[in-house]
Amino acid sequence: MNSAPCIITVAITGSLPRKKDNPAVPISVAEQIESTHEAFEAGAALVHLHVRNDDETPTSAPERFGRVLEGLRKHCTGIITQVSTGGRSGAGRERGAMLHLKPDMASLATGSVNFPTRVYENSPDLVEWLAAEMKMHGVKPEVEAFDLSMIFQAVAMQKAGKLHDSPLHIQFVMGVKNAMPVDREVLEFYVKTLRRLAPDATWTGAGIGRDQRTLQQWSLALGGHCRTGLEDNVRLDRDTLAPSNAALVRQLAQLCAEHDRRPATPAEARALLHLPAFA
Ligand code: ZN
Repeated sequence: MNSAPCIITVAITGSLPRKKDNPAVPISVAEQIESTHEAFEAGAALVHLHVRNDDETPTSAPERFGRVLEGLRKHCTGIITQVSTGGRSGAGRERGAMLHLKPDMASLATGSVNFPTRVYENSPDLVEWLAAEMKMHGVKPEVEAFDLSMIFQAVAMQKAGKLHDSPLHIQFVMGVKNAMPVDREVLEFYVKTLRRLAPDATWTGAGIGRDQRTLQQWSLALGGHCRTGLEDNVRLDRDTLAPSNAALVRQLAQLCAEHDRRPATPAEARALLHLPAFA
């Protein structure tokens, strides 16, 4: 029986879903803080953040990130904050313009891949630059792995001292069209490879759309951590739009119980990820 705590990441907004897809997608700063707070109360220990302009288009404006981070520090004591540096492929170094705000973590894709309608571009130069900015500001990366090469790249960067000084944390993303498919044997091989290359690493599985739940089930069974949220999936089930991020977190917390796991508290999640205690 595995009763190990599971870090629940809630990806509240993303760069794609709009109010027309689900009116619960939080767009304004106030909506993002409120939605995170509810998800936090439901068991999320880590929030993955993108910010939007008022017209719902994605932005990396540090001013906007700053207001959200400030609100979260006030209203969600101890929650791990993670900013996305990935939502605006093609925007170059603007994607890291908020790192000086010192969130706890930031996403870092260590290679390029095809997405549904475009190339998700992460040139070696940009990856190195983003990693260096993160390291300078004491921000721990969550490596977004869309294929095997990205795992090897992350391990090499870690060994070369280019990342935050703590064990690697990787997120395996499955189910983005044209990228890594949803395949349990592949996931198991990736997890095995990660354990071989970086035995102290932690990992999360993330799936898109209806595969969100599939990846949660597999991750819980294989000892990983889980991600949910409207960024990846706007439905509770085939026929029901999720009324909130919190509803998705509650659904995942229930699934944890079915796998003899339980949601990690923010303090436990910080310890698991080797992040400093909340001050
Ligand atoms: Zn994201």
